Amino acid sequence: MTISVLTIFPELFDGIRKAPIIRRLQEAGTLTLQLVDIKDFAGGSFRHIDDSPYGGGAGMILRFPPLLAALEHAKGMTPEIPAHTVILTPAGHPFRQADAHRLGQEEHLILICGHYEGMDARINEYAQEQISIGDYVLSGGEVPAMVLIDSITRLAEGALRKESTEDESFENGLLEYPQYTRPAVYDGKAVPEVLLSGNHEAIRRWREEQSRELTQKNRPDLWKS
Ligand code: SAM
Repeated sequence: MTISVLTIFPELFDGIRKAPIIRRLQEAGTLTLQLVDIKDFAGGSFRHIDDSPYGGGAGMILRFPPLLAALEHAKGMTPEIPAHTVILTPAGHPFRQADAHRLGQEEHLILICGHYEGMDARINEYAQEQISIGDYVLSGGEVPAMVLIDSITRLAEGALRKESTEDESFENGLLEYPQYTRPAVYDGKAVPEVLLSGNHEAIRRWREEQSRELTQKNRPDLWKS
């Protein structure tokens, strides 16, 4: 899979490039992470990437020409494979675990990060979808892009053992049950007895019950659907 990220701050991705799963997939040749600096496509010596909004208003808008040129450049990474382009924006549809599975099937994913007040809306016509990572506003699309990259790549073949991901929160519409590890008692707090019983059926039932209770309590929206 190839993931291209269009950003005005490629250096913000230095950390995630070194994250263990991403490094492993890159070394195995199953992931290519391409960072495209939108500034390189602004033309002229001033690298003019933003401008004030038509119609007035506060802040600056990322200009359409450099965005489009950067997108065309990213598409050139896999000329024979059509890319799936995603714009990161608070106005997009909410990102879910199911989207991580779905986008992980793409051979070439392009993520466009906005900044300042956002980007010229004409770029929307060149994208397949717009995604939001939550109902709050961040200063740039870089953290949202990293959220997508992390959640997608950890599901990839060769990233983690299958059992580690198939039993997790959201995979079956519920939150995951609480987990514990050694020691069995610490600071007066004991691990639930059933987990030490060795009775696999009882443990399975206890976990199922805990998942249901936690989902009802913390995520009534998931419980209802
Ligand atoms: N003026 C925009 C609005 O009110 O919707 C917010 C722009 S925000 C300050 C700058 C950039 O950060 C956006 O273009 C987008 O790429 C990114 N961004 C901020 N919050 C986001 C979120 N919740 N999900 C996805 N991207 C987000």
